[in-house]
Amino acid sequence: MADFTGKHGLIVGVANKRSIAWAIAQAMACRGARLALTYQDRFEEHVNELSQGLGEPALVLPCDVSSDTDIEAVFARIDQEFGGLDFLVHGVAFALREELSSPFTNTTREGFRIALDISAYSLIALTKGAVPLMEKRGGGSVVTLTYLGSERVFPNYNVMGVAKAALEATVRYLAADVGPRNIRVNAISAGPIKTLAAAGISGFSNILNVYRDRAPLRRNVEAGEIGEAAAFLLSDAGRGVTGEVLMVDSGFHITGM
Ligand code: NAD
Repeated sequence: MADFTGKHGLIVGVANKRSIAWAIAQAMACRGARLALTYQDRFEEHVNELSQGLGEPALVLPCDVSSDTDIEAVFARIDQEFGGLDFLVHGVAFALREELSSPFTNTTREGFRIALDISAYSLIALTKGAVPLMEKRGGGSVVTLTYLGSERVFPNYNVMGVAKAALEATVRYLAADVGPRNIRVNAISAGPIKTLAAAGISGFSNILNVYRDRAPLRRNVEAGEIGEAAAFLLSDAGRGVTGEVLMVDSGFHITGM
């Protein structure tokens, strides 16, 4: 198991104990990392409570990723507390509920803007904030979370599929930009997992059933498995990997029918 003792990481996207970002936080904390967790206003209490369950309680900070002011404040505080940053986990996505249940042709201009801003642009904004702190450590690693809906059509995934395609392209452009500073940027494409965000997608339980029936491993993945994969990409073991989308989906993506 990789040792993250003395390393500091920022994890954005914990809402509750089912959040994939929380599984990653646990995987990193049990490897010795000291963490900062951010929360969206309505989840403050949950995130504070969860943080207390980590070996060393995290630095818990508010951050709405649509606000540049919030993002700046997070990195200023991390610089103060940690004096640098070794890794960043981006586990944030959002689309208006109606965009995930109506025909794709009905996607609104505002719904499109919001989904792309929160789910894709935010990776650029957060990476920009992290880079100077990672440079203080001689490099760093960034991991985001995506889904196969970026390249295949899933019922009702709609504008979120477009946002994930943008997110994956963003991973590649960021990786090329910050690579010379020894900063790596990768995505994990997770199979479906029952979380708060997933509950917003109409017919999500049917997607779970299809994966269970057809994926080579004949089961769905667990959040803990995404945590382990993230720990690999964030660790020295992944030091040769950047600009990559790592599929952690019981192999579903290889199936034709
Ligand atoms: P989740 O609901 O637990 O996490 C989504 C997070 O996004 C929440 O913490 C929420 O607070 C945050 N968020 C939304 N808008 C925000 C904003 N404006 N500012 C700050 N934070 C904001 O659900 P999850 O499934 O753990 O989602 C995490 C990531 O994993 C997402 O990118 C999601 O698309 C991706 N993903 C999920 C699945 C799945 O099946 N659950 C599969 C593949 C990828």
